[in-house]
Amino acid sequence: MTMLSIIQTAYLLAALLFILALAGLSRHESAKMGNLAGMVGMTIAGAATVAYALDTSQRGMLLTTVLLFVPLLVGSAIGLWRALRVEMTGMPELIAMLHSFVGLAAVLVGFGSYLDAGTNDVAHLVEVGLGVLIGAYTFTGSVVAFGKLSGRMASKPLMLPQRNLLNLAMLLLALACCAWFAVSPTIWALVLVAALGFALGFHMVASIGGGDMPVVVSMLNSYSGWAAAAAGFMLGNDLLIITGALVGSSGAILSYIMCKAMNRSFISVILGGFGEGAGAGGGEARDYGEHREAQADEVARLLGEAKSVVITPGYGMAVAQAQYPVAELTRTLRTRGVKVRFGIHPVAGRLPGHMNVLLAEAKVPYDIVLEMDEINDDFDDTDVVLVIGANDTVNPAALDEPGSPIAGMPVLEVWKAGTVVVFKRSMNPGYAGVQNPLFFKENTVMLFGDAKQRVQDIIASL
Ligand code: NDP
Repeated sequence: MTMLSIIQTAYLLAALLFILALAGLSRHESAKMGNLAGMVGMTIAGAATVAYALDTSQRGMLLTTVLLFVPLLVGSAIGLWRALRVEMTGMPELIAMLHSFVGLAAVLVGFGSYLDAGTNDVAHLVEVGLGVLIGAYTFTGSVVAFGKLSGRMASKPLMLPQRNLLNLAMLLLALACCAWFAVSPTIWALVLVAALGFALGFHMVASIGGGDMPVVVSMLNSYSGWAAAAAGFMLGNDLLIITGALVGSSGAILSYIMCKAMNRSFISVILGGFGEGAGAGGGEARDYGEHREAQADEVARLLGEAKSVVITPGYGMAVAQAQYPVAELTRTLRTRGVKVRFGIHPVAGRLPGHMNVLLAEAKVPYDIVLEMDEINDDFDDTDVVLVIGANDTVNPAALDEPGSPIAGMPVLEVWKAGTVVVFKRSMNPGYAGVQNPLFFKENTVMLFGDAKQRVQDIIASL
């Protein structure tokens, strides 16, 4: 067997493991196995790539080894340091940041491949132009997403006049520059492609409001895959093409699922035409009246008399790390014969599947954790709903107020239950920045304070 055939076999094996990883990650029960398959696949892919670079090196073994291993070690050390320190609530922004690196890498590979090869092959030049465009778009789009998710940038949409026309003009101009670069490969054409890609990515994601960010995150995940695939074409690396295409298409499927969950048009997201219409500028402030407050012992009494309870967690549960006491409360109530279930909104938290991961971590049984569509018809027959740090995902304005930025988004219809207890620290709005009329309804009581502390207080009272 030659070195090349060993490397190709390793690439094939790694590609199969990546497919297994994606299949595994689509179900709770097999997610760990999926992660493991991905890690083994990536180790094989990394080792094969290093072996290939050493085998085909024209720069001398020592220089190639230094060029390969110094960045590899520095990158791994930074990655390990960040991964060990990151909180679950910081994962979304970390992922957005990682997407931006893939985009930037595609841009650098594009410039490197142009400067290195000095080729006139039109097909390769088209690959370089498109790779740089997708990479540049992904880079700035992900940096803006990072800013919005980490709170460093306001989540309100940037509303420039004629923004869709502006996007279209930038895209067409960038494609024209790609064509110019393909027929007459000058560095200036490539610089223009990159600059337009950077501007387009920034503007498209900046124009999207907070409530619609879940789709943006999954869309950028998809774009980062296409950027990696483009880098694979530029480098002539089959594994990178396969891996990029897998990430690109699975991200596109996730974006489609997110769009359906949020009742948004997939096409308008791809075109960056989000947040259009009446609600885009933010709803007007309304007076919903007075809210009522309760204390933990009153809620404990309410739960003591309830026969069926639904818990709807949101981002605040992740912030408070309240999943462990919530799981304990669930066990306590279940041993007393209360029917306890969870209702999970598809965009609750800041990551697809965020709440499911937290509840699984706290060992809440999977069979009582239901999707929004599975639980929404049952609220009429529910005695008490505990809204633990959720806000936008239980906001009736999404159904009742056509002018709201979250108008049209399906929500958990918790207000149909006998009593709703909302756990939060203040009357502040949720991520989309809109007030929640649920808090002022007659059957709602607010339980203020840190969700973890309040749930522990209830367990103590019970
Ligand atoms: P929200 O972000 O709407 O609201 C969370 C609430 O939790 C806040 O109102 C906050 O109120 C409360 N909270 C925060 N910390 C605590 C704490 N320690 N104890 C008690 N309460 C706390 O949450 P939802 O999950 O309902 O909605 C998710 C939002 O995020 C949606 O707008 C969604 O579109 C968006 N998003 C989702 C992504 C995804 O993929 N899932 C990705 C990006 C955005 P207070 O400050 O008063 O305590």
